[in-house]
Amino acid sequence: MPINVLMTRTTDIYVGLSERAVYANTHKAVLFISYHLNAATALAKGYEDFTYPTLNNDTISGRDTYHGAVLPALRQLNQINRGKKVANFAVLRETNMPAVLVELGFITNAAEYDTIAGKANFELLAQTHAAAIKKTLMQLGKPNGPVCLDAGHGGRDPGAVANGHTEAAYVLRFTKRVKEILLGSKPTVEEKTKEPEVEIIKEVLKDMKLNNTTRKDIQALNNQAVKNGLFTKLIVNKAEWEKVKDSPNWADKYNAVPLEDMTDDDLKNKTLSYFLRKEIKNNG
Ligand SMILES: [Zn+2]
Repeated sequence: MPINVLMTRTTDIYVGLSERAVYANTHKAVLFISYHLNAATALAKGYEDFTYPTLNNDTISGRDTYHGAVLPALRQLNQINRGKKVANFAVLRETNMPAVLVELGFITNAAEYDTIAGKANFELLAQTHAAAIKKTLMQLGKPNGPVCLDAGHGGRDPGAVANGHTEAAYVLRFTKRVKEILLGSKPTVEEKTKEPEVEIIKEVLKDMKLNNTTRKDIQALNNQAVKNGLFTKLIVNKAEWEKVKDSPNWADKYNAVPLEDMTDDDLKNKTLSYFLRKEIKNNG
């Protein structure tokens, strides 16, 4: 029998904390896992998980099992283990089944975010957490669930925001992938969703007022955008440009002007117009 997997949200919408707990309670979930990214200084890093400060045996042993099952992935990704913690979080307090809140890593630490968001590592983490859920369900004597997966934040609450990424977007992507794995699916090509990064980058550019923007800033934003899939490719040097400039539809495939040939103003305008163009396309 397949595992019954519930989710408190499956799109970028706002769901209140109590609503999440009520949902899990009403649907008689036997395990509740809430996924988050941590935020602090740029140097803070590591994994940690939380339970309600409770003496409930199932919660304690369930979390022990879950925590133990993710340790190999932490070692593999060279992530610090900040340990098993307790906290009076609403989703932990108001759920009436064993509940764990997981902080996968720090979004405010650019290097750690890159580590946990990189394609292969992201898949490794999702596989690991899916396996941890299976193991915990077994240990609770309820191998078929239902387990309730909770992607933190969403909608008007983006959670932590740093370096052009939002916690809400990451944990939704992550939670959906964990569900897919629990349901037995193979890795899929990542679906294209609406990119909150576009809004954020636009805000950043607005803040820069377009007059003190340096070439380096724009290039960093561009690189970020490429990584997030906003561009297919960014051409950064003349040799690359020479190779692609005669290919058909280059403008759709590439943000294609060699950066070294552009004035700072060209660069700013080009970047802005590309973001806008892309956004218009996304919104139909
Ligand atoms: Zn959070």
